[in-house]
Amino acid sequence: MTDRGLNKNDKMGAYWMPFTPNKAFKAAPRMLESADGLYVTTTEGRKIFDGSSGLWCSALGHNHPKVTEAIRAQAGKLDYSTAFQFGHPQAFELAEILAETLPGGLNHLFFTNSGSESVDTALKIALGYHRIRGEGQRTRFIGRFNGYHGVGFGGISVGGMVNNRKYFGAQLPGVDHMPFPYDASMHNSFGQPESGAQYADELETIIALHDASTIAAVIVEPVVGSAGVYVPPKGYLKRLREITKKHGILLIFDEVITAFGRLGYASASERFGVEPDLMTMAKALTNGAVPMGAVAAQSAIYNTYMDGVEGVELFHGYTYSAHPLAVAAALAAQRAYKEEGIYENVRENEQYFGEAIHALKDAHSSITDVRNIGYMSALTHSRINDVPMSRSSKIFQRAYENGLKVRVSGDTIAIAPPLITKRRDIDLITDMMVKTIKEVD
Ligand code: PMP
Repeated sequence: MTDRGLNKNDKMGAYWMPFTPNKAFKAAPRMLESADGLYVTTTEGRKIFDGSSGLWCSALGHNHPKVTEAIRAQAGKLDYSTAFQFGHPQAFELAEILAETLPGGLNHLFFTNSGSESVDTALKIALGYHRIRGEGQRTRFIGRFNGYHGVGFGGISVGGMVNNRKYFGAQLPGVDHMPFPYDASMHNSFGQPESGAQYADELETIIALHDASTIAAVIVEPVVGSAGVYVPPKGYLKRLREITKKHGILLIFDEVITAFGRLGYASASERFGVEPDLMTMAKALTNGAVPMGAVAAQSAIYNTYMDGVEGVELFHGYTYSAHPLAVAAALAAQRAYKEEGIYENVRENEQYFGEAIHALKDAHSSITDVRNIGYMSALTHSRINDVPMSRSSKIFQRAYENGLKVRVSGDTIAIAPPLITKRRDIDLITDMMVKTIKEVD
């Protein structure tokens, strides 16, 4: 780095890293150089098991040859296709494939470049839908405490993770948050907690407060991801669906993490048998290889737009919507999920994975709660001297040194390996976790 007369912070380098304590990272960087299958390789040449699938993205593992080749071929053919008023055949093909893959009436796909964009797009689709139908007074949204819906202003407004909101002042007006459907009685549930569906009834209370006719949509992650993997109590999502339907309120499932196999099915909606009006996706859509997101809409919503107004039906989009390289990666990934039985692999090994993660608790008293579903899991750790993240951040760093990449969020360590992970790999993960937790204890 050249000295440009910069102060001490400037001298840490030009790259302003996202969601990262920059100073700490630059003092002790974790730098990746390459990746292959289940492993990433650091710039020092150490191979690390990717126990977080990138950021829940790399379902097929890294550098899957069919995805890589599809991107390479597309780059030499059509590198960019004007997004507005022009299209390319592969985007239409991908939409058809996703419409077939997703449940029931989720038959229309709007393409974005990220999860955050998908969330803001879904919120806008909901507002426009009501307005076209003559219900323009439906402008309120209901999210949930601890929800994560990306970093756009819409997403942080309906989201409920404190740090994502508190520094940024004014947000969308007219947003309420439902209580988080989790309490100590659900600790260490295997898969879905048996009780807790009654948390959905709180939605009725919020609706009554404002009158249903003012509410546009309710948005939830079917399984809470970023806040630390919280699995919905049995019956909870169904009840949310019943309540929203009764009041003409749209239900949005934010499936940015759960779509495409994380739970052993194409979506959480399929797994739980609950169909939302709008569904957001990203991450594993392209196996993480090229940024891309999408919103799936029920036919009834799409048809309202098509039949409702003249001209441009939804005045919204991105320069890079349905970018050819992203579409190529998505087509290859979606085909590979089917051809290689990726979802089946998760279904076959979910029990084994869950038991292995839960067994860690028996060996370590510092673990206070374990949660799991599909290939998502989380271990909550006690704090050292009551300092938040004191133990979890040590485990995160030590795991990395021991050859395992996990995700830290508050006092929770999330483990969510690529969906190609087999039982012998699960054993490897738990061996490394046992060693790591012992060392930190
Ligand atoms: N929604 C959910 C449920 C997510 O988990 C995430 C990302 N972790 C997002 C939205 C935002 O996605 P992105 O980072 O691609 O904008």
